[in-house]
Amino acid sequence: MGILDKFNDASRGVSEKAKSISEANNLKRKILYEEERIVEIFTDIGKKYYKEHGEDVEALKVLCDDIDTRRRRIKKMRYELNGIRGYKVCPKCDAEVNERFQFCGRCGARLPDIEDEDFMSLEPNDYYTESSNNFFNADPNKNY
Ligand SMILES: [Zn+2]
Repeated sequence: MGILDKFNDASRGVSEKAKSISEANNLKRKILYEEERIVEIFTDIGKKYYKEHGEDVEALKVLCDDIDTRRRRIKKMRYELNGIRGYKVCPKCDAEVNERFQFCGRCGARLPDIEDEDFMSLEPNDYYTESSNNFFNADPNKNY
């Protein structure tokens, strides 16, 4: 066993924790990136609409689909981020529930599994974001 192996052994606990922190930061960075792209696409849609007076519906639809793709990506990454923190967020009441539970302890709703077919369907509260600018904040009174 070399010096490096010993070092790795001794610091495994610490490095595991550092790994989740860096994974979490990585996800946050990616989410922020997607959110910024969405803001850019919204700007693009606005420009196109202004220029074409909405006649080029197909081009707008492509952009809107792009936004939904990125929102699904964000949804998945937010879910992974919560997983690193050790909890799920109830889709009905936003309660934070231990990730091992299948149902919400507050409202009883079933907690979606990332493998579920309908997991990637977008809901109004998927608009909000915790990181950047709350551009998509569905409820302006809620403190995220
Ligand atoms: Zn709930």
